[in-house]
Amino acid sequence: MTSSDKDLAYKILDVIMESFEVKPETMDFPVALDNSPRPIGLSLSSAGKEKRYLAHMLKGSPKKASQARYLAGLDMGSIAHDYIRVVVGAHPDVILSDAERTVKLEVHAENTYVPGHIDGFIEFDDKRILIDIKCVNLYTFNELDPRNPETNWWARSRKWAAGNYVFDAVDAFKDDNFKKTYIDQIACYEAGLMEEGEDWDATAFILYCRDTSHFAVGIFNPPDADKIVQNAIEKMQEVLDNPDPLGYDTCWEAAIGASPHIVCQYCPYVNECFDLATTVFRGKPRFNIKRIK
Ligand code: SF4
Repeated sequence: MTSSDKDLAYKILDVIMESFEVKPETMDFPVALDNSPRPIGLSLSSAGKEKRYLAHMLKGSPKKASQARYLAGLDMGSIAHDYIRVVVGAHPDVILSDAERTVKLEVHAENTYVPGHIDGFIEFDDKRILIDIKCVNLYTFNELDPRNPETNWWARSRKWAAGNYVFDAVDAFKDDNFKKTYIDQIACYEAGLMEEGEDWDATAFILYCRDTSHFAVGIFNPPDADKIVQNAIEKMQEVLDNPDPLGYDTCWEAAIGASPHIVCQYCPYVNECFDLATTVFRGKPRFNIKRIK
């Protein structure tokens, strides 16, 4: 990570911490459980996902969300996501704009545009920053900590709290089959924004650990964003040309081989791919699955 990226990441981290100091005593904060059918078609929020998942999106929503998906919708993560954005946007020196703005990216020869929604921009100190907020568990959060002496020294020496830190988003995500899609998604949002003539200074992930309430800020500044976007587009194009969901390998095979539960248990299409029986193991629901195809 360049030193200017690192400085910016710490500045964003400071702004987040300050936001929680200066937040208004009351604020309207609506919370709703959105269990409406998923829209038919590809979405940039799924850029980089495996072809079976994308092909299911083209076929449309399952009639009923899976049990796990419904419960995931109740998770504090999605509530914390919106709350963080509202609180940071309430900072007196921060302007929050374009929250949930629709961005479109052309992905096919026949003028096919895939839409997505950005989390928004924050502006402070004459900088305009595209943000993407992710709520993660402690396991994922700790995985992102590079655990090198410099980072830990920086983290411990911050005035706010040990445990908050900054990271290079590309380094942190690129070798992980699950988190790599974070990179594909943000790269596609950037490409769509550029097609619309948007201008901004930097792109940052804001990670919130829902188990400890710590934050980490990661700057997304890859040398090869074009290649990332091209790969994601090619995957979408292939699925548009051959939209048979079961014609592709299962996502878990593509991702990690022998352990299907992690990827599929939150997937709304899980009933389309597997015959399921749910059991409880170590206090959490698990699926015993039989592959349909
Ligand atoms: S259920 Fe699993 S294999 Fe099927 S689309 Fe979802 S993640 Fe992929």
